[in-house]
Amino acid sequence: MVKRLKACKDCYTLTEENTCPMCGGEVAREWQGYLIILEHEHSDIARKMGIHANGKFALKVRE
Ligand SMILES: [Zn+2]
Repeated sequence: MVKRLKACKDCYTLTEENTCPMCGGEVAREWQGYLIILEHEHSDIARKMGIHANGKFALKVRE
């Protein structure tokens, strides 16, 4: 069974925690789009979104 993930409002990281493990920011339950970044140095979408790490991210996070 997959736990419902939450997404950071600041850096889009997906997490099961209630605060973001990457930046300590607020997380939201409402998000869309599942993005896996493997090589953020070479990813246009990571650059556009301001992501500077590899991992799982949400494309859109509801404010
Ligand atoms: Zn964050």
